[in-house]
Amino acid sequence: MDELFGMPTDFEIKLMPWWIRLFAPSNTYVTFWGTLYCPDKVALDYISRNDYVPRSLFVHEACHVKQQRARGNLLWHLGYAFFKTYRYGQELYAYAVQLNYLISLGLKPDIPAFAKPLSNKDVYGYVVTYNKALKDLKELLNA
Ligand SMILES: [Zn+2]
Repeated sequence: MDELFGMPTDFEIKLMPWWIRLFAPSNTYVTFWGTLYCPDKVALDYISRNDYVPRSLFVHEACHVKQQRARGNLLWHLGYAFFKTYRYGQELYAYAVQLNYLISLGLKPDIPAFAKPLSNKDVYGYVVTYNKALKDLKELLNA
């Protein structure tokens, strides 16, 4: 299996259909049932680029593919949809993988800037403070 930073690359990347838009936050990538969906063609072209920032986004979404395969699609999506702590744990880990990927390239990513969306209720719908998200992220990093 082809891998990127330990994450799978053998999954489909598609434009988001209307029915995923019903529950996805606007202008975000969504990995659903092992497929990466992009909000539009620009986003699809972007995440397919071979630069480190789009690659880091790709690694984040590929991490969700790996999680979904490990847990099984049905259980993963049910847990993600209905249990805030499960959703937070899955996102926290995917953010940490994304940051570790950037760090592995010798970069110094702005970790607080990643803790902001991770703790944003409008993005993930759970209640975790910015400080908790930042602390949890730092604990998972190899930096
Ligand atoms: Zn995610």
